[in-house]
Amino acid sequence: MEQYEIIKNQLKDLRLETIANLCITKAEECRQQGKDYIDYLAELIYEQTQVNRDKSLNYRLKKAKFPNWKTIDMFDFRYNKSIDQKLISSLARLDFIEDRKNIILIGPPGVGKTHLAIAIGIKACEKQISTLFLTAQELREQLIQAQVSQRLQQFMGKICRTPLLIIDELGYLPLSSEDANFFFQLISNRYEKQSTIITTNKPFDEWGDVFKDQVIAAAILDRLLHHCELIKITGESYRMKDKQLNQNKEEKEK
Ligand code: ADP
Ligand code: MG
Repeated sequence: MEQYEIIKNQLKDLRLETIANLCITKAEECRQQGKDYIDYLAELIYEQTQVNRDKSLNYRLKKAKFPNWKTIDMFDFRYNKSIDQKLISSLARLDFIEDRKNIILIGPPGVGKTHLAIAIGIKACEKQISTLFLTAQELREQLIQAQVSQRLQQFMGKICRTPLLIIDELGYLPLSSEDANFFFQLISNRYEKQSTIITTNKPFDEWGDVFKDQVIAAAILDRLLHHCELIKITGESYRMKDKQLNQNKEEKEK
């Protein structure tokens, strides 16, 4: 028993907490089942890797700051025929990140742009790719805060280096010319180095108004679109689906 205690402490020093906790009961279990040493070792290592994987996924998900949990499996492709399911599935395999490509999801409110952006982001976290999700407005607020606290370079460095950056709701609120400059720097820095996913309700010919500058808007779009998967979504808001169902039900009941 004393030997077990020594082993347990050594395993904890090695940060193999799960193996430390399981090694005694597993040893007994394997003995009873007549398994050999290699099986015992394999089972312990398997349990430890599972725990490590879960921990690392939880850490990445926390850091990504997704506003809610939306997965590809939760998405009903039958509802919206304008979305190419094969394309989304292929993007969810994340080759676009290796190819340093961007994704722009464009369309009216409620059609699933944010849902799909989060779902791809979750896939990236599962593959240990650091991801950051924020709305254009949050990006703007964080930029102002960084400026005030004189951490602008640090903030910019962090946001430029993030392997997958998701900027949600670009175009919902107008940006200042300072924001536009920052945005241009951000996109230029990430160009052909990291992937960015953008969701927007604004067609490209209105980006000049969003950034209050046609030249900057064109320069941003030029870089974003050079290696980019453009997903145009049309159709009704999914939020209306339940309303329609309820209405139909009420009409039938009349
Ligand atoms: P958008 O960002 O385009 O405005 P969201 O992604 O926020 O829209 O979608 C609005 C709500 O409807 C969310 O709760 C989302 O999960 C859901 N939703 C949208 N489209 C679908 C769909 N095709 N299948 C399942 N849920 C959907
Ligand atoms: Mg949205």
